[in-house]
Amino acid sequence: MKALVYHGPGQRSWEDVPEPTIEAQTDAIVRIDASTICGTDLHILKGDVPEVQPGTILGHEAVGTVVEVGSGVTTLTPGDRVLVSCITSCGRCRFCREGRYGLCTGGGGWIFGHLIDGLQAEYARVPFADTSVYKVADELTDEQVLFLADILPTAFEVGVLNGGVQPGDSVAIVGVGPIGLATILTAKLYTPGRIIAIDLADSRLEQAREFGADVTINNGTEDAIARVLELTDGLGADVAIEAVGVPETFELCTDLVRPGGRVANVGVHGHPATLHLEKLWIRDVTMTTGLVDTFTTPRLLKLISEGRLDPTPFATHRFPLAETMSAYDTFVAAAETHALKVVLEAEPAAHRSVPREQELAAV
Ligand SMILES: [Zn+2]
Ligand SMILES: [Zn+2]
Repeated sequence: MKALVYHGPGQRSWEDVPEPTIEAQTDAIVRIDASTICGTDLHILKGDVPEVQPGTILGHEAVGTVVEVGSGVTTLTPGDRVLVSCITSCGRCRFCREGRYGLCTGGGGWIFGHLIDGLQAEYARVPFADTSVYKVADELTDEQVLFLADILPTAFEVGVLNGGVQPGDSVAIVGVGPIGLATILTAKLYTPGRIIAIDLADSRLEQAREFGADVTINNGTEDAIARVLELTDGLGADVAIEAVGVPETFELCTDLVRPGGRVANVGVHGHPATLHLEKLWIRDVTMTTGLVDTFTTPRLLKLISEGRLDPTPFATHRFPLAETMSAYDTFVAAAETHALKVVLEAEPAAHRSVPREQELAAV
């Protein structure tokens, strides 16, 4: 079969690899119907995630069809359509039993395209299949559910729920790439009073307005702190959500939050940020960090089925799975291509959401 293989920093190729086989009784083999590329894959390619060994197939987000199950798998049968999430759960360790699958110590957590072969491939081996995949109803298209593999639950759990967004709140979201946009989308489930999107790129701020931001601030040309104070009677935002992963944006969040407010960090940081306790100690501010657990994935799936949540606008570009290399080029150049998520579609895709001609036009 073919797969996208990481060969060390800066090196990737779409090449022939052996088909995966059942290694443990709890494994399933899934044919990938749709996959996508994450900003984390780009971090890996930069060499920022040294645990990823050269020779690993990348990718941790997919929708597929079960083709084979190990003898210990009891809830899945070949033919089932499933969402394969970025987080795998052993279902048995202390953290899995608390619903904190991201911290799994039993061999799960974030393993696809990281510690084991990932999902940008024609087939994948899925460990702990019973407790790690989500069955997908026939009525839903691949694109409706694909982004539940990572960005939607990440934004919802680590941003909106950790940030404790309440009805009427002023929510400042710093950074409106795909994760920031997913934070806007899922914050709206709680009817905040005002969503304020802050970014350096006008094109992303425009996308933020399309996703539901009420106010946008370009903090390259405007004073974001002054604007937020002006919008909140001089108090600051009830919730400030960091969705970039650099020291400046984290520190900005701690300046934007009101006394008694909450800062939720979603960004992946590679450098130390300064925590200004000399200003914050007296302000009763709560701060949270976290990796997604995906405990909300069933709830988000239900919201999509009921028509309350539509993540399909994230799909800005579509490629056949065999053109994964070009899809990477488009995703890497997001500043010019305005790509949010690129959908990699296997042929034949049984659950296409748009006709083939439109897809090619979009590419
Ligand atoms: Zn991801
Ligand atoms: Zn576990």
